[in-house]
Amino acid sequence: MHITICGGGNAAHTLVALLGHREDIHVRVFAPYGNEAEQWRLGTAHHGGILAHTPQGPVLGRPVRISPYPDDVIPGADIVILALPAFVHRVTLEAIIPYIRPQAWLGALPARNGFLWEVQDVFKHLGRKPDITVFGLQTLPWACRVRVFGQEVDVLGTKEIVDIAVWPSTHREGIVSTLSHLLGVPLVLVENFLALGLADVGQIIHPGIMYGLFHQWDGTPFIDPPLFYQGMDEPTAHLLDAMSNEILAIRGELEQRYPQRDWRAIRHIGEWIRRTYGRSIQDDSSLHRCFVTNTSYRGLTAPMKPVDGGFVPDFRARYLTEDVPYGLVVTRGIAEILGVPTPTIDKVILWAQGKMHKEYLRDGKLNGKDLQSTRAPQRYGEGALEMVVER
Ligand code: NAD
Repeated sequence: MHITICGGGNAAHTLVALLGHREDIHVRVFAPYGNEAEQWRLGTAHHGGILAHTPQGPVLGRPVRISPYPDDVIPGADIVILALPAFVHRVTLEAIIPYIRPQAWLGALPARNGFLWEVQDVFKHLGRKPDITVFGLQTLPWACRVRVFGQEVDVLGTKEIVDIAVWPSTHREGIVSTLSHLLGVPLVLVENFLALGLADVGQIIHPGIMYGLFHQWDGTPFIDPPLFYQGMDEPTAHLLDAMSNEILAIRGELEQRYPQRDWRAIRHIGEWIRRTYGRSIQDDSSLHRCFVTNTSYRGLTAPMKPVDGGFVPDFRARYLTEDVPYGLVVTRGIAEILGVPTPTIDKVILWAQGKMHKEYLRDGKLNGKDLQSTRAPQRYGEGALEMVVER
């Protein structure tokens, strides 16, 4: 089996080590960014591949080819995986789709919201029908950090379970079991990409807590970075609850419109945190207590930049720049199509767009000047929901 990994960062290092370790897989790497391909070539010569330090011990995986050119590494691939931040999905898809073979599987780890629309849109612009299978994982299965670029990566932990969507639905159970086996992570199939995106709690937690921590910030540097999750106050927990209830109202509308489809993967954040972190939560008597007493969050701080006199919030961090345009704004766009009001989500987007110097919402509608840089369904024309929800 030939698998091509697109990307050169933490996730790409991990995938190349874990997949390239297997005898039955030929791993290739598409790394067009800067001089990453060259750095990878020099780096992998050191150990003969990428060395992953995992809790179970070291794993060495050898890529058979590394290239900055898509025509070197995409043709003939059975599976192509984008292991990249969402803001480079589009440019990567435009580079690789001309070379991808019909019936190949193309996916993203993680997909974020609106991934399938973006893939379909690139096919459309290239005048090709989407003759492939698309998959998306809700999150990256590993917490991982590059130790030495092109040489070694630390795999700090593996998720117990990860949601996945597959389009079209033909043979999807077989695809999910193959991918589970290859990645070594139990994958749970959700109904479709709409459910996968709406169920992603990162879009609630990350922008919601950033709002809670910093919406009243007066510009004075913090002496130390505040705790992100465990530093949450009660009003912020209420804010997350309200955002989550608005997403459940979207689910309710989808259940009315598409009753034959299964929307149960879209859960309330309180249910999600108890289900995901049950044993790490010391006191689960309220949503607020679930966050502040969750030992898995111990010591994790807000994204900050050092300045004279302390630290200031980093509003360019992915908690806003990824979770807003490829998360919350997409959800807001789905709500707009369905006629579901989202006053709390709007409040958070309006605050975040100001901090990011962007404009998504204008006069209560998603028609701000920066909408084109998001994956809101409004970008993909009439019938965007029907493109994802198979009848
Ligand atoms: P990363 O920051 O390591 O990825 C950086 C890579 O992206 C670069 O090495 C380059 O290959 C590519 N890139 C960056 N800018 C580019 C540009 N302008 N043009 C082309 N390519 C460019 O990211 P990561 O840690 O590998 O994470 C990938 C995704 O997984 C992100 O969405 C991240 O939020 C998510 N995630 C990561 C972790 C983790 O532990 N690393 C955990 C959960 C989720």
